[in-house]
Amino acid sequence: MHAEIIFLGAGGGRWATITQNRGTGGFRIHTEKTNLHIDPGPGALVRMADLKLIPYYTNAIFISHDHPDHYTDAEVMIEAMTYGMTKNIGYIISNISVLNGYEKYENAISKYHQSKSEIHILNPKESANIHDIELIATPTKHGDPKGIGCRVKTNKGDIGYTSDTELIEPLKDCFDGVRVLVANVVRKKNNKLKGHLCSNDLIDLLNSMKNKPELVVINHIGVKMTNPIKECEYIKDNTSVKIIPAKIGLKIELYDKRINISYLGKKTEE
Ligand SMILES: [Zn+2]
Repeated sequence: MHAEIIFLGAGGGRWATITQNRGTGGFRIHTEKTNLHIDPGPGALVRMADLKLIPYYTNAIFISHDHPDHYTDAEVMIEAMTYGMTKNIGYIISNISVLNGYEKYENAISKYHQSKSEIHILNPKESANIHDIELIATPTKHGDPKGIGCRVKTNKGDIGYTSDTELIEPLKDCFDGVRVLVANVVRKKNNKLKGHLCSNDLIDLLNSMKNKPELVVINHIGVKMTNPIKECEYIKDNTSVKIIPAKIGLKIELYDKRINISYLGKKTEE
């Protein structure tokens, strides 16, 4: 089977989360044996229902850090994964803040909800084998000091997810050679923000990579980025990498020699 990525949202940051204009449900990676939900933020379940995706099929959940636009639907997703907490099943992969609490960050997932699944608390460079994938944690520099991104190894190639981070030196190696990179770019060009990527940061990251991705998806789009398509054109002009904005229903299929892009549900105009 091919591997696929389906987006349940494209927005990020406080204001995009409150308005829900682009959705904040995270995204899913499906392979033959794995149905992984990454960062099930507010609305993840509602967006899945809209797209007729079945939450019960979820068998792994990754939460990158302890901010609500990344975790608020996670406990409900865990209830779907464990058939209402009746079965010992699935994996929960995250960092110490989300699962145990760290400094001012309380554990976002209750111990009750952690009681039926295999728990992996990862630091950068640590990895977990989950069904037919391997997930390697990548470093971030962001509000949650223990935040992680991930590199997911599938039998159709690797998928990278920066999570929320500013541009830091290790990222170019962590994501070198991924086929698809999901980059959380909250701000447009010349609009730097501490703890986050803007378009220029992504350009610098891509141009510093030895093996650039086949496709980049900008995700976690903030309200100040009013025209993501124009922003993608700017980034493409400066990197020669194919790049598209995330969108609710965006579906990316990875085959051995090609990547397909389509949209589930009703296609809305930008
Ligand atoms: Zn964050």
